[in-house]
Amino acid sequence: MERFFKKVLSFLAWAVLSACSSSDLPLDAHPGYQKGEYIYRVHDEYLFAIPLPEGVEAQLYPWEKNVIGGCPKITKEFFRCKGSSLNPEHVVQTEKETKRFYDCSGKHSLPLREGEEFIYPILIDLLNDIQAKTNSKVVITCGHSCPDHHAYSDQTPENRYSKHMIGAEVAFYVQGMENNPQAIIEFVKNFYKNDSKYLNKSEYTEFKTEEKSTSNLAKRPLYNKEIYIKIFKETEGRNFDNRHPYPYIAIQVRHDFDQKVKVTYSWNAAYRNYLRW
Ligand SMILES: [Zn+2]
Ligand SMILES: [Zn+2]
Repeated sequence: MERFFKKVLSFLAWAVLSACSSSDLPLDAHPGYQKGEYIYRVHDEYLFAIPLPEGVEAQLYPWEKNVIGGCPKITKEFFRCKGSSLNPEHVVQTEKETKRFYDCSGKHSLPLREGEEFIYPILIDLLNDIQAKTNSKVVITCGHSCPDHHAYSDQTPENRYSKHMIGAEVAFYVQGMENNPQAIIEFVKNFYKNDSKYLNKSEYTEFKTEEKSTSNLAKRPLYNKEIYIKIFKETEGRNFDNRHPYPYIAIQVRHDFDQKVKVTYSWNAAYRNYLRW
């Protein structure tokens, strides 16, 4: 047996070592012969300069664009009326009569300005700034509310002429900071202090407290020339749009910065200024 292996091994060795046979041709006549050339240049001589590699930032995926504070950037789309035809009728029993309210179907536009859907930009800017500063999601519970949805969701008499109907009010809370609306108010104040648009304009950078407000909120509302801020405790300001257990903030626009006019509710602006489909 051992002899047999020795034979096999020596056969293999012979087969491997005798595989290349050298012919009598000169070296450069062999097919595949390659000849190197010396490079004659000095060490710092170049035909062309090789640019240094530059770091390039990774391109964003589509879903990574338009992100503020780790959350989708707030646009006017976030302000759409929360009305839905799935909501049941809302029956209100008064002394004299039974009133029935039906929610809107949500099939309508935002308020219009110059033919385009419009929400006062200060509201959008403020909410995005809050998202950027807190790295938390701003949850809009009520942006635009068409007259039908408003009548359905909120029967409070003092809200009859709500600016939600003209795209000049927003109700929201901040996810993760639900119970600290006061901290959010500080971000709003800082927004006015830091934005160059309001530089040296004390009527915007300084907030006043509303003392003779008709609302009986525990926290007095605050205002500057442009906005009016209300804080609702977890027991206050509940309506169909705010059925969550958190305090929330409502911001109204008082003054149109760009058009330099006062922003007020009007029947025409609320009822006749949006498209139904
Ligand atoms: Zn609606
Ligand atoms: Zn409201």
